[in-house]
Amino acid sequence: MNTSCPHSSGLPHTHLLHRLHAVQQQYRHIPPHAMQQAAAEFNVPLSQVAAVVAFYSFFSTQPRGRFDILFSNCTSCGYLIGEHDLMHILCEQLEVTPGETRADGLVSIDETSCIGLCDQGASLLVNGVPVTGLNAAKLTQIAHFITDKIPLQQWPEAWFDIPDTIHRRDLLLTEHLTPGTALQRAFQHGASETLAIIQQSGLRGRGGAGFDTGKKWQLCLEAPGATRYVVCNADEGEPGTFKDRLLLREYADALLEGMALCAFVIGAQKGFVYLRGEYRYLLPHLQTALERRHDQELLGNDILGQPGFDFDIDIVVGAGAYICGEESALIESLEGKPGIPRIRPPFPVTHGYRGQPTVVNNVETFIAAAHIAVRGSSWFKAAGTPSSAGSKILSISGDCEKPGIYEYPFGVSIQQILDDCGAHNVQAVQTGGPAGTLLSPAEFGRAIAFDDAATGGSFLVFGQQRDLLAIHRNFAHFFAHESCGFCTPCRIGTQLLKNNLDNIAEGRGMAYDIEELQQLSRLIQHQSHCGLGHTAANHVLDGLRKFPHAFTSHLQPHFTARFDLDQALASARQITQRNDADAHLDNER
Ligand code: SF4
Repeated sequence: MNTSCPHSSGLPHTHLLHRLHAVQQQYRHIPPHAMQQAAAEFNVPLSQVAAVVAFYSFFSTQPRGRFDILFSNCTSCGYLIGEHDLMHILCEQLEVTPGETRADGLVSIDETSCIGLCDQGASLLVNGVPVTGLNAAKLTQIAHFITDKIPLQQWPEAWFDIPDTIHRRDLLLTEHLTPGTALQRAFQHGASETLAIIQQSGLRGRGGAGFDTGKKWQLCLEAPGATRYVVCNADEGEPGTFKDRLLLREYADALLEGMALCAFVIGAQKGFVYLRGEYRYLLPHLQTALERRHDQELLGNDILGQPGFDFDIDIVVGAGAYICGEESALIESLEGKPGIPRIRPPFPVTHGYRGQPTVVNNVETFIAAAHIAVRGSSWFKAAGTPSSAGSKILSISGDCEKPGIYEYPFGVSIQQILDDCGAHNVQAVQTGGPAGTLLSPAEFGRAIAFDDAATGGSFLVFGQQRDLLAIHRNFAHFFAHESCGFCTPCRIGTQLLKNNLDNIAEGRGMAYDIEELQQLSRLIQHQSHCGLGHTAANHVLDGLRKFPHAFTSHLQPHFTARFDLDQALASARQITQRNDADAHLDNER
């Protein structure tokens, strides 16, 4: 994949997020007058626009550099995966403070959450365009280009190449569907029979939760409402996941066909692909796919000559908020608001986009539905396990010889996957990203399945050389950063979890901190409002249970005060004008 076209935003300004993307690109920040203009243009309160700008990390009220660089801080595509701290090397070369813009406005450098390039080595985004395979020599070249103000279009084209790395294909990746075939089958069967086929196939949502797809479509169909919507969640943000990058690029037709199929079944006329902001460089490709399908009468009015079947799809590009992968937060974002999860019930399937019945499925689920429509439910059910029909596409990265995309029938063992990807002497595997499950070698006989080792696609391998506490710390920083702040257990709890792990990693932890970690983790798990909070401490609880030494080996044997209480009372002594021995805790002065 070549992403060498560092395009303008290219987004139709019909959506508030797109308008703000364009403003951010033009001014390198969102100035107050642009917020006022956007509020007037979209007929929303200025406070809503300001809240949106504040919520999404890709928008800024302070100018960013002409070269705006974001290093991934993921454990796989992050700037710390080698021996060197690549972000700080570039910061030193360009004399930039991380998180700030250089005084001359030329460059800003910061870190961001996983950018979905975990199979490509350490990576960054420069003005939204990925550069992969970073090393010290490449950074020196980048520093020269920036210093000399060389436009991105003149940087080496090969730098923007992202090679496809499909190592194993199964049900969905082996053959491309001929555009229109799934819809033609659906027209032959009719909407009810097509829904029955999806239900009989046993297809479950591929995002991780595994809700029955046919059931979801049926609930939406039966829900009262004047208008129905189909939404594709292309906001995979789980660190370690990058399969959608490939699917959107190579299998976009199957995705769009699956969405149209769903629209035919539930009677929707409008669909949205919610594309994560980190994949904005895929937008021209997706827009071309939409145009092509219009030309082929696979989108628009009377699709393929089917009278009254009108359906169209818009792409909405997110702006750097992991929480928008949660379906109700995604819908809030689609509506031009901060992506704060809704209180559920009601669920989006009955009260979704603009309060109307809405099906939200992810990229892989829609592609699977299109294949099922063509090949039948028995074909799909023949693969996998009784509880988990079909195949799962995995993004494999970390300490293995062949990172990349692997598609397996459900039921494949962890050990088989490790053998296939060339992972040796493995210390642990994390399935499902930081929110998922940490597996020890004793569990490598377990299977990828909804009722065993479930995953939305992320499969992270950690070799023996890895410091697992550093991994936990990375995950804790991720959740503390990505918590939307709506509810206290998650907003405060994830910060405390992060601080606690920092203390332990920096040698200030004591046995008490382990107990504190346990209690805090359970509190966040049980008291938070949405799935992010419910799962944010999973990795800590898994780690404490399966790899306690990773934590305890860093603990201080004796109590050490974390701050000087006597010093903290200095201002009180000053106010009371006392400095005698009794005014000090140690009584020795
Ligand atoms: Fe936001 Fe976290 Fe609460 Fe979810 S659990 S609503 S992400 S603060």
